Amino acid sequence: MQINFPFSNTTKKEDSGCYIEFEKCGEFMSQLYLVWKLEYFDEIRINPFNQIHDYFMNPFSKPQLKCVWGGSCSDTFLSIQEDGALSICDCLAYSGSEFNFGNILTCDEADLIDETRKTMFVDRMRVLIEGKCGVCDYFDLCHGGCPVRSYHYHKNLSHFDPYCESYKSLFSVAEMQANLLNDHSPEEHNEEKANT
Ligand code: SF4
Ligand code: SF4
Repeated sequence: MQINFPFSNTTKKEDSGCYIEFEKCGEFMSQLYLVWKLEYFDEIRINPFNQIHDYFMNPFSKPQLKCVWGGSCSDTFLSIQEDGALSICDCLAYSGSEFNFGNILTCDEADLIDETRKTMFVDRMRVLIEGKCGVCDYFDLCHGGCPVRSYHYHKNLSHFDPYCESYKSLFSVAEMQANLLNDHSPEEHNEEKANT
């Protein structure tokens, strides 16, 4: 099962009515994570909850998540639209042709690895690291979030993801749960779960 923070289909911040309020979204996801972790962890696999759980349970290997929290979607995704247009992903393809790499019907192989188009994503990471994300405890997990969400909400690809605080809320709950598991014996954890 996969659960996503919502994507907006608008490019105007003031029209972003399909966004649930960020604070409420963070609360909802955090509560959902707790219910899943305490009641359904052994029965239902939910991404990205399982991936976040694995991340905090393995502080030394720190598995890298994909897509929104992967940090390098321009290196790992390639989307081909129905008209042949090439982009990183479908969300970005529908955000504007300026993000397209070209068209598979007309381009040659060199265009598929056109580095100039990817430069804007490399620049995004540099800008994020120089700002708020660079001092965030969760940067190794989050990498500043999704560029297309930033573009839609802030009109700026290099801005950090508008769900930033919601992510932090979810990450802190997952981290606390992992710390409990790492610090407590299984018996103590079961007792805690029964008292929740
Ligand atoms: S732009 Fe966003 S949705 Fe698309 S691949 Fe990158 S992180 Fe994922
Ligand atoms: S949680 Fe916010 S500040 Fe931290 S890395 Fe993600 S977007 Fe940046």
